[in-house]
Amino acid sequence: MLKPGSSPVDWCESNYLYSPFIAEYVNTFSNVLFFALPPILMWLFRPYGQVFNQGVHIIWGMLIVVGICSAYFHATLSLLGQLLDELAILWVVATAFALWFPARYLPNYFRRKRCTNSRVLRLGARCGSIWILAVFCWVNDRMFCDTWSYLNFPYLHAIWHILIFIAAYTACVLFAFFDAENKIPEKNPELKFWPSDNYEFLGVPYVGLSGISWEMDHVIKKQHLI
Ligand SMILES: [Zn+2]
Repeated sequence: MLKPGSSPVDWCESNYLYSPFIAEYVNTFSNVLFFALPPILMWLFRPYGQVFNQGVHIIWGMLIVVGICSAYFHATLSLLGQLLDELAILWVVATAFALWFPARYLPNYFRRKRCTNSRVLRLGARCGSIWILAVFCWVNDRMFCDTWSYLNFPYLHAIWHILIFIAAYTACVLFAFFDAENKIPEKNPELKFWPSDNYEFLGVPYVGLSGISWEMDHVIKKQHLI
């Protein structure tokens, strides 16, 4: 199970080409975003966690776990690596469902009014397109390896890693936004981009809260009554 190459799955990239210790070099290192971005997301979502839902940080932490398992799998192509990789992905999906789709909210979620925020719609469209492109890469690497090897590009699975990370975390940001919009509208949850709101295309999306807090609102109303 721990033995290198014991997994029945082998991706298109040639094995042990650049290092005698790493089976699929590019597939291993293309997991870099799984390590680099979650700490930034944890930092960007600090106010969101403090004011609304700490659970969002579990998702960011688990994306790092997926990165570790995936890198281990591609470096060894062992059966254990494959199982850990697949299990970690299932756990993230399960956590996201538990966090954002408890059964009691489901009907409400699908009945929510149509979103008119153009920034949210653009990010949703971007997320969907990246997701489709990622699946295209995964399928092509699996099914048409001969063609891609002939074209000297057996690296579509590495591109899948990058695209699926972007699609997955963007979807989580959108769910986190919808959840906040539903439950704490008084905090004016807003979709923002880091490092600057002007970098909508290349920036990292996150949910910012800028509204007056409920307590302050209460105090202001009280003062008006006196
Ligand atoms: Zn992979």
